Amino acid sequence: MLTKEQIINWLKEKDQTKLEKLWQQADRLRIENVGDEIHLRGLLEISNYCQRHCAYCGINGNNRTIERYRMSEADILEAVKKIVRYDYGTVVMQSGEDRGLAPEWLENIIKKIKTSTNLALTLSLGQRSAEELAAWRRAGADRYLMRFETSNAELYRILHPTEETSLEQRLATLKEIKGLGYEAGSGVMIGIPGQSWQSLAEDLLLFAKLDLDMIGVGPYIAHPQTDLAKGEIKTTINKEEQVTADELTTYKVIAITRILCPEANIPSTTALATLNKESGRELGLQRGANVVMPNVTPPEYRIKYEIYPDKACIKETAEACFGCLQKRIKSIARKVAQGPGNRIRKK
Ligand code: SAH
Repeated sequence: MLTKEQIINWLKEKDQTKLEKLWQQADRLRIENVGDEIHLRGLLEISNYCQRHCAYCGINGNNRTIERYRMSEADILEAVKKIVRYDYGTVVMQSGEDRGLAPEWLENIIKKIKTSTNLALTLSLGQRSAEELAAWRRAGADRYLMRFETSNAELYRILHPTEETSLEQRLATLKEIKGLGYEAGSGVMIGIPGQSWQSLAEDLLLFAKLDLDMIGVGPYIAHPQTDLAKGEIKTTINKEEQVTADELTTYKVIAITRILCPEANIPSTTALATLNKESGRELGLQRGANVVMPNVTPPEYRIKYEIYPDKACIKETAEACFGCLQKRIKSIARKVAQGPGNRIRKK
């Protein structure tokens, strides 16, 4: 197990030769623990309504400049058919924290998907009540993704200034999710203003402590319609302490995550692909990641789910993403996995 100091040293490491060792170690652990196959999860952004005001997020409830949408049941089931056709083993339904997504409405859709397909079903709908989480689990949902965003309670409060909920409550919801028997996923952004190297190292240690099944990390990308980008949020750390939101730091975080949580399913994220559209996805997959989440959201909605600007693939169709990914995976001599791609416990 890496210590906090060792993690900080890796995060700050500049020596290419040493970093090569980090990539190799992460890649070896990836092969040993989750194998050479890449799991694809079809991502459906089912609603961009959001009642929260996260200071970093482009679809936060304060942003009046975007048009809001909610996919209909028919739209969702149509997209699910594509996921089956492309042989992605999982459907991920993500949204803003949208109280307009009625729990019973979603329950019914979950049941339909689970009885008519072999897909694993993942939800990522924000912090929902224990009753809702339990009902969706009973309806057949298998996994739940909810990033804790930062393990620093003070920074969490600064980034979620008008929210009633604290980091403590978000972590309690994660615990609830695990207790209900969902596979649990979480993660953080890299280089969000106010995040120090020390606090990022603590985030990484928390991944291991929570024994997460899935861990998503990606660079913070400023969105002009947010309080954070407008400079309305004061963070109190100096320049040397501030984590950089760049590509190299993202690879380091992916690699360290693999070392700390060898069995976890770790995606090479869209935010990383946004920083390096040419080869970000591939490099993530070669430095610890083993999952990709191709977007299946219909183009007319996808364009409105802009949590950060210039998001990779925002103008693509599901078909285009399917074709593009097959090529990318082939180019690094890896294979696409069959089946749901659950977390496999070795012991
Ligand atoms: N409402 C859901 C899903 C949020 S979107 C929830 O609260 O869990 C998924 C993730 O996108 C967020 O958890 C956050 O970590 C990330 N994200 C949001 N804004 C971002 C930005 N400006 N740059 C990079 N990632 C961002």
